[in-house]
Amino acid sequence: MNLQGRGRLFVLSGPSGAGKGTLRKKAFEDLDGIVFSISCTTRSVREGEQDGVDYRFVSKDAFRELLGRGKFLEHAFVHGHYYGTLREDVENALGQGLDIILEIDVQGAFQIREEMPESILIFVSPPSLGELERRLRERGTESENMLALRLKNARLEIDRTGEYDYVIINDDAERASAELKRIILAYREKKGVIP
Ligand code: 5GP
Repeated sequence: MNLQGRGRLFVLSGPSGAGKGTLRKKAFEDLDGIVFSISCTTRSVREGEQDGVDYRFVSKDAFRELLGRGKFLEHAFVHGHYYGTLREDVENALGQGLDIILEIDVQGAFQIREEMPESILIFVSPPSLGELERRLRERGTESENMLALRLKNARLEIDRTGEYDYVIINDDAERASAELKRIILAYREKKGVIP
């Protein structure tokens, strides 16, 4: 929370397969006062994912309806699907003095920076594109076409890392999640002073 008693907004971006979710979950094990923003998406559920926990899985019509009613703080079309962050979720958390972390793509990250310039943008990068490809293949959730699209988008995302406040190289999940935790704690220690 900052001096005004509001929480802070952290954005975590990076190519799918870079390990954003794993780092966030590990960092959350020893952090209080921070919540994860559960995005809406039109993509289908992957094995092991839970509706309302990992994402809110919605139809294209439902997504368009929410969009038309101005419910999204940001949204983007990524790898052929719509994704969006609900404004109300973010406002509720920040208003209660809770920090919130958004795991979103680069298009969404820069929409957030426009709307809320005080937000903190963190990029999680795989050690290399070769390693990213290996991880995506190991996950085994994508067809060859989707894999190629995800790798192409990864290159475009990595090109924009210079615009982020922090870059975490996810070469080792323990080390990288500790780095994420340190960044969050460092902002709390600043007691509201926005750098
Ligand atoms: P995946 O389908 O692998 O879960 O996510 C694909 C990409 O969409 C990832 O880069 C992920 O961070 C991004 N993403 C997930 N939720 C949102 C969201 O609410 N907004 C935006 N802009 N991107 C999102």
